[in-house]
Amino acid sequence: MPNEVGTQNEPRKPSDRDALVVLLELTAHLTESHRRLEDALQNVTDAALRLLPGDHASIRLLDSSYNELLVGARSGEGRQHRPMTFRRGEGLIGWVVAQAEGVIVADVHADPRFLPNRTPNHQGFHVRSLLAEPLWSGGSVIGVLSVSSPHPGRFTGDHQLLGRLLANCSSPPIERARLGRLAMTDDLTLAYNLRYLVPRLHEEMERARRTGQALSMLLMDLDHFKRVNDAHGHAVGDAVLRVFADRVRTRVRRVDIFVRRGGEEFTLVMPATTRNHAHATAERIRENLDLHPLDVAGERAIAQTVSIGVATWDGAETLQSFQQRADMAMYRAKELGRNRVVVAPGPEDLRRIS
Ligand code: GH3
Ligand code: MG
Ligand code: MG
Repeated sequence: MPNEVGTQNEPRKPSDRDALVVLLELTAHLTESHRRLEDALQNVTDAALRLLPGDHASIRLLDSSYNELLVGARSGEGRQHRPMTFRRGEGLIGWVVAQAEGVIVADVHADPRFLPNRTPNHQGFHVRSLLAEPLWSGGSVIGVLSVSSPHPGRFTGDHQLLGRLLANCSSPPIERARLGRLAMTDDLTLAYNLRYLVPRLHEEMERARRTGQALSMLLMDLDHFKRVNDAHGHAVGDAVLRVFADRVRTRVRRVDIFVRRGGEEFTLVMPATTRNHAHATAERIRENLDLHPLDVAGERAIAQTVSIGVATWDGAETLQSFQQRADMAMYRAKELGRNRVVVAPGPEDLRRIS
């Protein structure tokens, strides 16, 4: 593959044969049935980094309003950091969606479309050159695949063709997984919906019974959320819910099941997780939100806190009782002043009391 960059920091160049192998492996993976959407997206961003001379790759998918780009998967540097969010038309990524056109940018600092990171924290990787291609389905753009490098001028016309090939061959399976997911997904936040929660929770309780592993659940309710709607309007309230969901998703394991139970209430089902671990995760989510306001496109960052109830399945109780204990812990957190985590007493505590 031709390469216009000099010898300094020479990017690795896969041979044509290596590139074919990566694409063959990827398409074989993606055509397996029952692929989870997240896994499919991750396969694509992993393949992008094997094919192209970047250190960070991401896929963002448009939400149901076709305006907000939600982070689907990321590979490479900076995965542990908070991702930036974009809307249609915002930044280079938003430009790709609005224009329905791919780009290669040799130096983003010289490009007026580039939107520097607004958050005080560094995003964990540097962007100097960028390649971005739209993902298509049924004649509409459904998302963007982007790869960036900390060095200028990394991407050539051939890389762009390869990026486009990658975007094109991954779009149909992504769309299939997305449609399958839509039936059990909340449109606004892309979290699972309530319909999905009960059967899945039954399944996880059954698995916990079989394996003897602990099963925990967090119930999160945003504090005084009504005030966000009142002060900024319903559309900003919606955006806060979306950005909150994105924030939580990047802070939990991929096996955790994140559900929008309704309104501003979310449940996180945590398989193979003890009470202490669930408590620590809840505290991490609460503290992060408390310290870092939500970066909502078109608004100043919005301060938002969350109250969280934690419960661990006692191995015998019904699903209703398990959920009720998480609910009660969450209500207790509200009573105690909000912006806190309360752990539901377990059977061992009850034995101690009696
Ligand atoms: P608390 O700390 O006691 O939880 O107070 P709160 O204001 O968060 O709770 P309350 O239940 O009084 O209000 C929840 C608000 O959430 C009311 C409703 O308008 C808003 N809400 C529910 N679903 C949505 C939604 O999808 N979008 C927006 N923008 N607002 C929503
Ligand atoms: Mg509520
Ligand atoms: Mg609330």
